[in-house]
Parts: sequence; structure tokens; C-alpha cells
Amino acid sequence: MEQELATQFLTEEFARELDRTDELAHFRDRFYVMPGVIYMDGNSLGLLSRDAEEALLNVLNDWKTLGIDGWTRAKSPWFYLAEELGRAEASLVGAQPDEVIVTASTTLNLHNLLAAFYRPQGRRRKILADELNFPSDKYALESHLRLHGLDPEEDLILVRSRDGRTLEEKDIIAELTDEVAVAVLPSVLYRSGQLLNLSLLTYAAHERGVIIGFDLSHSAGVVPHKLHAWDVDFAFWCNYKYLNGGPGAVASLFVHQKHFDRLPGLAGWWGYRKDRQFDLCLQFEPAVGAGAWQAGTPHILSLAPLAGSLKIFQEAGMERLRAKSLALTSYLMYLIDALLSGPPYNYSIGTPREPERRGGHVAVEHEEAVRINAALKRRGVIPDFRPPNIIRLAPVPLYVSFHDVWQVVQHLKEIIETKEYEKFPRERDTVA
Ligand SMILES: *Cc1c(COP(=O)(O)O)cnc(C)c1O
Repeated sequence: MEQELATQFLTEEFARELDRTDELAHFRDRFYVMPGVIYMDGNSLGLLSRDAEEALLNVLNDWKTLGIDGWTRAKSPWFYLAEELGRAEASLVGAQPDEVIVTASTTLNLHNLLAAFYRPQGRRRKILADELNFPSDKYALESHLRLHGLDPEEDLILVRSRDGRTLEEKDIIAELTDEVAVAVLPSVLYRSGQLLNLSLLTYAAHERGVIIGFDLSHSAGVVPHKLHAWDVDFAFWCNYKYLNGGPGAVASLFVHQKHFDRLPGLAGWWGYRKDRQFDLCLQFEPAVGAGAWQAGTPHILSLAPLAGSLKIFQEAGMERLRAKSLALTSYLMYLIDALLSGPPYNYSIGTPREPERRGGHVAVEHEEAVRINAALKRRGVIPDFRPPNIIRLAPVPLYVSFHDVWQVVQHLKEIIETKEYEKFPRERDTVA
């Protein structure tokens, strides 16, 4: 009986059944899913939606017909667009409406936040991060240590991973000593897909007098957060991954209300209080809220698609998206365990199994990952490869179906059975 049940879950018919009962399935039609392609890379670059396309075309039309008056007379006046998008995104990350602004790039927002929040004083001068961090974040942290005349070798603490994939919260907490000024950690680790306990880490950091910020690039739009309630000091993330804002879309930052009296790290005239910005006073009077953290004129054309995309998120709701995302990732892991874990396949999963410890993607490990990744692409499946041996698969809940997941597993199976991967070189592409 148990055996029968188990094989029943492995069938194509079961995948179709999951799609039939999926109340979010219809959102797929709002996206340009390339014909014949199974897109599993929405954690690197989300797909274009019709909503985002329309929003961008509207802005182009406003520019065409209004010229400079677009700033005030466009349907969504450009002058307020970044604030408007910040308010719309706030609910996705559990922020107050004025705690989020859409501005600059992810890495620049980290720079801006560090310039304000990193204040080395006496013994408390170190920055805490982790050794599995996205390199750009680490480069930014090092440059701030150098700006303060400090030595990254000595003053950047990288929490060690025990298994090369994941971090233990207790190992992080053990490093939150009275020598640490600021901690910057990811919500979801970009390789393994582990989700850290942000609430616990924030509590522990504050108990020890440490300011804490998070990089939400791999969770915003797929994992709900409660940044305000958890008392997180600051956060930043990109909008081109799960949030589908387009390649190089303008990024976001969150500053907790309790820090609204702090001056932005890198000030500019666009952070001025909006009602008096055009008085052009030489005396800087910051806006009250995350809006103060803008430096220069917003990149309107790179903001526009997000306006359309966020409408979809408001309709779908973060809780429902999270539930479907967890269902998709557990289904994917279940199929790989059941069908592909033993010889000759030898795939394994590097992502934590517990739902509360994983984000939106699954890290599939294989010693031939580079070549299997290339073979998948040839078959019309778009994953991505991360060194040394990881194939990342992101079944994005807005446009990936259970049947897509089932098919990807069949591809992984056939690529080994036919030794198809052997036809591909061991080197990876420049943009993996
Ligand atoms: C994608 C990503 C970034 C990207 O930074 P950009 O400045 O947008 O290039 C930063 N951090 C993490 C963890 C990411 O996943």
C-alpha cells in the first residue's frame, strides 16, 4: 500500500493533478514564458510580465507626450514613483510604508547603509559577515573597513560554515561579541538556498549591542518577512530576481523607523523633504523615512516595470506565494530523492529540508554539475550553475508549474542515462 502510494506520487498524472488544484496557476499567463522553455532561473533574473511591459510602455508614452511635465503630470508622476513603489513593496517584507525606498543598486545600497550604520568606536569596531556570503557584499564591507583606516584581515569576521553549505545560527550568535559594531548577513544563502532565522539573529544581535542588517536578494518576493516587527535595523535587496523588475532594475532598501533620525550615509538632493526639494536650499533637510536615502534623480525607466510587477504580488499575496513555493521545492526534492539519488544518477540535495530553513530554490549537487547544466540548457531547461558542483533550480511560484518540475527531473534522469553530458566541455560560460 505504502509502495503504491509512493509510486503514484511519481507519475506525470500526479504532477498534472497538482497543477489543476493550484489556485495560483493562472498567474503564469501574465508572463512571457518562452515557448518550449522551462525557466528555472527566476532567482537570477525573473521573467517579464505583461503588467511590467505595460508599465514601462506607459512611462515611455508619458515621456513622449509630456516631456518634463512627466515628473508631475504622468499617470504615476515620476517625482513620487520611488516612494510609491517603496510603499507597495513594504507589505511584501513586513515593513511600514515609509520604511522602504526603491533606489540605486543592491551593492550601492549596502554602501549607503554602511556609511550610516557602521560607526566603529573603541573596541567595538569589527564587522561580522559569513564565509558563504555573496562576494559583492564582502567587497563592500572590506571597503568600509579601509575607509575607516582598518584592516579587513583583522576586522572583518566571517562566520564559518560547518559543512560548506549552511550556517548555524548559534555559530553566528557566538561571534556577536562586544567587538562587533555591525553584522550583515543574507536572508537566504545564494548557493544552498538556506533561509536564516532573521528574527532570532536580530534579537541576539540587539541583546549584545550589535546593529544588524540583511541582504534579502534571494528572499524578497518569495519568502515573507516581518522586518519592522522583528526590529531589523536595515535591509537591502535587488528587484530583478523573484520580483521580476527587469535586468539591472533599481534596488530597494529598508531602514527601521527608529532610525529615521539618522542621516543617510551618502546624501543627495533626492533625499530632501519632497515638499521643499525644489526650493534648492543649500542646507540639507532630509525627508522623514527611507526616502531620505536617495541620492540623485531616480532611474525612471528602470523603475517603471516594477510598478507593473508589484501589482501581481499584491494580487497573489506573499503567504500564498510562499505556500506554493514550498510545495514546489518539496516536490522537486522528493522526486530527486526517490528517482535520482542512487547510482548511476548520484544527484544529491544541498538545501535544508525543513521548510522554515529554506528559501525559493533548490541546490542540486553533482560532480558533473557544469556539464549537466549545459545539457539541461540544450534541452530547453534554464537552470544556473554555481561553483563548485551546484545546479540551482528555482521553481518560481508565479510562473513555474508542478508539471515543469516533473519534466526537469525527467531531463536530469535522461542526461545521465544517455551520458549526454559528456558531449559538453567542463568549462562554464562567462555569465553562468
Ligand atoms: C543578486 C545579489 C546581489 C546583487 O547585487 P547588485 O548590486 O544588484 O549587482 C547582491 N547580493 C546578493 C546576496 C545577491 O544574491
